[in-house]
Amino acid sequence: MGRLETILESPQIWLRNERPDEPIFFFNPEQLRATAQHFLSGFPGEVTYAVKANPHIDVLAVLAEEGVTAFDVASPDEMMRVRQVLPNARLHYHNPIRSRDEIALARLYGVASWSVDRMSELDKLGDITGVEIAVRFKLPVAGAAYDFGTKFGAEPELAVALLAEVAKRGGVPSMTFHPGTQCHDAQAWVSYIGKAAEIARAARVQLRRLNVGGGFPAHRCDRMPDLDGIFAAIIGAVKNGFGDAPPKLVCEPGRGMVSECFTLALRVKALTDEAVFLNDGIYGGLNEWRDLGTGERVDLVTPEFGKQPDKRVDRIVFGPTCDSLDRLPSPLPLPDGIAEGDYLLFHGIGAYSLAQATRFNGYGAQEVVTLRR
Ligand SMILES: *Cc1c(COP(=O)(O)O)cnc(C)c1O
Repeated sequence: MGRLETILESPQIWLRNERPDEPIFFFNPEQLRATAQHFLSGFPGEVTYAVKANPHIDVLAVLAEEGVTAFDVASPDEMMRVRQVLPNARLHYHNPIRSRDEIALARLYGVASWSVDRMSELDKLGDITGVEIAVRFKLPVAGAAYDFGTKFGAEPELAVALLAEVAKRGGVPSMTFHPGTQCHDAQAWVSYIGKAAEIARAARVQLRRLNVGGGFPAHRCDRMPDLDGIFAAIIGAVKNGFGDAPPKLVCEPGRGMVSECFTLALRVKALTDEAVFLNDGIYGGLNEWRDLGTGERVDLVTPEFGKQPDKRVDRIVFGPTCDSLDRLPSPLPLPDGIAEGDYLLFHGIGAYSLAQATRFNGYGAQEVVTLRR
């Protein structure tokens, strides 16, 4: 991965000077600092970062500088990355399925908290005396881009049993959930927090901490995310559910933290009347668009810097590989008059883009250019 930098404020100027033929991610650290501060000042508890959304080392470094000291990690590789940047970071190992070898490695890394959603995985952990165990549960709530409950999470009844068992074995009982990624609906958190309180009561356990997950939305299409509205709903729901003895709160945003700090610049390779062929697509930096649908925040950069034409025309967008599935899930309204060699800027693309880009067919966005003031 390159560590190019530009002191120029605008990706447009860099593109005009460099005319790159490969896809370029522009990373804006100031934007990331602002989002981190929004979470740190607005969220009523500890803010951790879910590394899988974007594990780029510079992203982790900026978050550490801003005061994020705990990270949600899912693999030994993510633990190593975080330790590289912040040797004494607290690691929350919130992937509830782990091999025995991974458990041994995680112990070497000094993991501070583990999540569990089934008895067999709790057993695998062996002696948990004094160790924080967050029981992950799921509810059939809507609001997210897709259902996160199909893989992980105990049904409430099992969560009661797990929580009681954690306490019995001398662990530190906590709970966690994930409302689903790109969740605009604050009610999803309200439902989950209410149910967490019920589960803790049924298990006769005082929770040390309640982790309200990731899921915080990004600005993908028209709708602006309302983080403050979600924070307020969380505060209200905790008061309602837990009264005077609330657990400490934790959140673990991935998408909501990093989406806005990356812009992806792609070049037009060729055009037909109906379609454009770009130098990257769903096998590269736009990987998750296959599942989430086509985003809408796309601008045109022409080498001449002409004014963008107001008129937009729907076009099919193909990526660079020879696979016929390599196209965006729906047409993109692109400025009329787009030409070969022009660039398209895809805004708000920092989450699950670089992290998921493959090198299929010798393509796939990898290069990151950091914008400095
Ligand atoms: C992926 C993940 C997150 C981050 O989810 P976002 O929707 O990107 O905020 C948080 N916690 C866990 C356990 C995850 O697996």
